[in-house]
Amino acid sequence: MFIVLLGAPGSGKGTVGEIIAKDLKLAHISTGDLFRENLKNKTELGKKAQEYMDNGELVPDEITIGMLSDRLKSDDVINGAVLDGFPRTKAQAISLDEMLNKIDAKVDMALNIDVPFDEIVERIANRRSCMGCNEIYNIVFNPPKIEGICDKCGAQLYQREDQKPEVVQNRLEVYSRTAEELIEYYKKANTLITKKAGDKVGKTSYDVAREVEELVNNK
Ligand code: ADP
Ligand code: ZN
Repeated sequence: MFIVLLGAPGSGKGTVGEIIAKDLKLAHISTGDLFRENLKNKTELGKKAQEYMDNGELVPDEITIGMLSDRLKSDDVINGAVLDGFPRTKAQAISLDEMLNKIDAKVDMALNIDVPFDEIVERIANRRSCMGCNEIYNIVFNPPKIEGICDKCGAQLYQREDQKPEVVQNRLEVYSRTAEELIEYYKKANTLITKKAGDKVGKTSYDVAREVEELVNNK
């Protein structure tokens, strides 16, 4: 089974993705994490992606699609995957359908996590990432036990370059520009599920994950 996560930066995609991937025994594939790994290891691909990422722009489709296509060939994708951050453009969505078609699979569900914009801006400002394991914290709603230190692995937390206010603004603009066509695409394919979430709606990432798992298990 393949589940695609749509939703703005800061919508909780990462948290929801991690939970459902673990519970449904699917690989969790985050293109953002894959790019950051390449940056850290100073690979050719990382060098090509750096400038776009630093500015909060999308990395060009050829690079992104190639990277994802390689990742889908790994052994851990045997049962399927939760795709977090891919597709981000219609061209990527079309390529994904083609890639999955070749292995007799398809996108079974496109989950759109809909969180109010003002809440997203606030969340991103409060977000900290672990240098060691990429775990994400919110210093207000989900702080680590010891300030600045990851609960899971003990490494230091930091604010990602692309979580600084100017870049966040641009990432949100990029998101607004591209979200609509993806939502349309999956609406037409009859796989779109929208879940409203956020503090004002009274629904956390954990609630969303549980509802999705129920849906999958009752199919
Ligand atoms: P976000 O919190 O914005 O969802 P991600 O960690 O998913 O952040 O992605 C970080 C950056 O990696 C993006 O701003 C973009 O530059 C790049 N990126 C990730 N996924 C894609 C994609 N599918 N297409 C193009 N660029 C991508
Ligand atoms: Zn950690």
